[in-house]
Amino acid sequence: MTPDEFRRYGYQAIDWIADYLAHPERYPVLAPVKPGQLTDALPAHGPEAGEKMEAILADFDRLVVPAITHWNHPGFMAYFANTGSQPGILGELLAAALNVNGMLWRSAPAATELEQVTLRWLREWTALPPDWFGIIYDTASLSSMHAIAAAREAADPHSRTRGTSPGLVVYASEQAHSSIEKGAIAVGIGQDHVRKIPVDAEFRMRPAALADSIRQDLADGLHPCCVSATVGTTSTTSVDPVPEIADIAEQYGLWLHVDAAYAGSLMVAPEFRWAFAGCHRADSLVTNPHKWLLTPTDCSVFYTRRPDVLRAAFSLVPEYLRTAADPRAVNFMDYGVPLGRRFRALKLWFIMRYYGRQGLANILRAHVALAQELAAQVDADPRFERTAPTPFSVVCFRYQGTDEQNKRIEERVNATGEVFISGTVLNGRYTLRIAIGNQATQRQHVQRAWDLIREAADR
Ligand code: PLP
Repeated sequence: MTPDEFRRYGYQAIDWIADYLAHPERYPVLAPVKPGQLTDALPAHGPEAGEKMEAILADFDRLVVPAITHWNHPGFMAYFANTGSQPGILGELLAAALNVNGMLWRSAPAATELEQVTLRWLREWTALPPDWFGIIYDTASLSSMHAIAAAREAADPHSRTRGTSPGLVVYASEQAHSSIEKGAIAVGIGQDHVRKIPVDAEFRMRPAALADSIRQDLADGLHPCCVSATVGTTSTTSVDPVPEIADIAEQYGLWLHVDAAYAGSLMVAPEFRWAFAGCHRADSLVTNPHKWLLTPTDCSVFYTRRPDVLRAAFSLVPEYLRTAADPRAVNFMDYGVPLGRRFRALKLWFIMRYYGRQGLANILRAHVALAQELAAQVDADPRFERTAPTPFSVVCFRYQGTDEQNKRIEERVNATGEVFISGTVLNGRYTLRIAIGNQATQRQHVQRAWDLIREAADR
């Protein structure tokens, strides 16, 4: 591609993005396609000869975009809604252009140092301890897997060479994200050695049940090694009592990991830091800027106060990657499974500079305020009940009828193409769930979702 061609198509792509982000509501939020529809519309085999960019861009519009579920749509309120903000998109674009591989300081000095600088800024903005080490992985699932691997290393340094010794045990609440269990599978601890600790009426881990479970495992000759507390659980955004869990972790010598994948971003707003009490005592913590900090997927930030343990778990330097030791030259490949690493810090740096801490805090505050308004409306309608407290920007509620009726409400609302909500099961009953987290979502969008839900209930 010549520079002139690149410029022409580049402008076209940027124009497309600018129009798209200005009016994502022109599209149905949930892709109105059937499984396999796009596959069937595309050629079965890749082209032998190269094609014109015009044809490729036209097919993007004609075939790909109609099969997109639009996370940028202001009516996207399913799962954890997110935002791929414009400064973040520009950072992503430039990172793709530079295409550095951040395995070593030498292979990518700017990517390495910008990662250290942005994570130092974020650590300050979120009031985490100043001596914590930060690294960016792709997802919270991988971040938590690394926490469990570090816990394994701390509990049994031979596991690296001899394989995971049987009997290591990981603890998390029954509301914890499935990634904790997957992490235990990945590092060889095994699903049978993940204890799902019961929760209280507000879906928070019960510390007494945690202590009981640890004692039982010790009595059975097992080796408790890690507990994962969640600040902002996936279904309800409940907050585990981290201070009490930290006491127990300390008493029994467990690695304490905090999964704040969703809610961690909210620490940039000081009035929400109550939710993070005790987190400074953790051995590691994950938060996902790609969930709520306006960062295009993917970007998961992992902090640990014991980087030496993480390094001991994973450092493996082949001759062809050996470089002179310099205390200021961090080689991020030493702190995890991936060797090749994208320049994810660039988009985060763009976002942090463009919005500033206050700007980001205000956007998140607005999301929380919208959720609180919706929660009050739900409470005021006797046909509905809230099924969990609403500490942040997710509202869980149900129509006071059968599970089937609630699922039908969800289906009808989603079929409008105006909003996309999801559901979960709480205390054995199907629950609707509205998650506010997109920058474009305003009061009228939340109101529209609520109106559609009530209309569906009427019907
Ligand atoms: N932890 C929590 C609390 C989550 O809610 C999620 C996803 O929603 C994850 C971890 C997994 O995040 P990721 O998709 O980045 O692996």
